Amino acid sequence: MGYELAKKIRELVPYEPIQGSFPVRLDANESCIDLNADTPLGDPALEAGRLRLREKIAAAMGKVALNRYPDPLCAGVCEAFGALYGVPGDWVTAGNGSDELIALLMGCLLEGGETVLSLTPDFSMYAFYAVLYERRILCYGKDGAFGIALDKVIALAKQEGVRAIVFSNPCNPTGCVLRAEEVRQLCTALPDCLIVADEAYMEFCRGPEGYSALPFVGEFDNLVVLKTCSKAIGLAALRLGFAVSNQRLTRVLRAAKSPYNVNSLTQAAAQAVLEEKAFLGAAAEYLIRGREQLEAGVRALAGNYPALGEPTASSTNFVFFEVENTEAVWRAMLEKGIALRCMGNRLRVSTGTAAENRLFLQALEGVLQGR
Ligand SMILES: *Cc1c(COP(=O)(O)O)cnc(C)c1O
Repeated sequence: MGYELAKKIRELVPYEPIQGSFPVRLDANESCIDLNADTPLGDPALEAGRLRLREKIAAAMGKVALNRYPDPLCAGVCEAFGALYGVPGDWVTAGNGSDELIALLMGCLLEGGETVLSLTPDFSMYAFYAVLYERRILCYGKDGAFGIALDKVIALAKQEGVRAIVFSNPCNPTGCVLRAEEVRQLCTALPDCLIVADEAYMEFCRGPEGYSALPFVGEFDNLVVLKTCSKAIGLAALRLGFAVSNQRLTRVLRAAKSPYNVNSLTQAAAQAVLEEKAFLGAAAEYLIRGREQLEAGVRALAGNYPALGEPTASSTNFVFFEVENTEAVWRAMLEKGIALRCMGNRLRVSTGTAAENRLFLQALEGVLQGR
């Protein structure tokens, strides 16, 4: 007979991003601002800030005692994060990417076959970890415009005894955002359900109202806000994410995580970057301008080429749009050296530098013309 694999993992395959080298990578929503390269950004102040930061990071990493275990509570980095986002450092749990924290929430805050509600389409890792930890996954399908009817979500959660609702806000891949008031409504209406708002893209959200749930994390026993250094902060290589929650939840998360989950080099480099509020603000503004360039460009093309749909309004660093023969268009763009994300009948394009965004728009027009 031999060793039998558990049924839930028999069909699993390792996560594999696109293979090959593509000069323009717009497929993974990373920041296009590479601190270790001199890629032109067309923004002299940001380029100068990047040089200064590069030296600060090198100095900080140079001081790390490589023979010692890291600080398990990541005190320095949690304080720097807290100062930047206006939350106490002791409400913050650091993880090896927010990915690890999603796994921790699904694995440790829930038990047995408890039900997790996902608002689809959404980030696939929520359902992935929920299933891996043998939770029951329930999906609420968003409407045609990717809107969420809160009253329906609340009724469904009550009816099905949902123990956790996990969603990205703003949403990857739709780019849509819920107002802070709406997240608060979920927390209030479902006091015995964990509400996880993954704010990986919140830095790119601009609007007249409040959107982040961070200001009221301390008021609720059932709210966790996830943040990451992989997007607006521009440190995807370091693998660092944060869960922000009140002290009761934070104590449990810190106790349940693996003790040395964030290495010392990551802690040192990330702290050096998180202290630079002005630079990070300017970087986010640059990325927002890039998204606006992409949105306007795709919208203009959609006016000329019926195969292309209008992009959905985006509160993120990417643009999401429908296109006919999606996979063929995606492949043709790859052949031109531009990597995008193909999702059903839509493409998702991450913000690049101003020059990369122009290349993308030119290449897309070429593909639509059959060139
Ligand atoms: C990219 C992304 C993250 C970041 O994950 P890390 O593990 O921190 O790199 C988290 N949530 C969503 C919705 C994302 O798109």
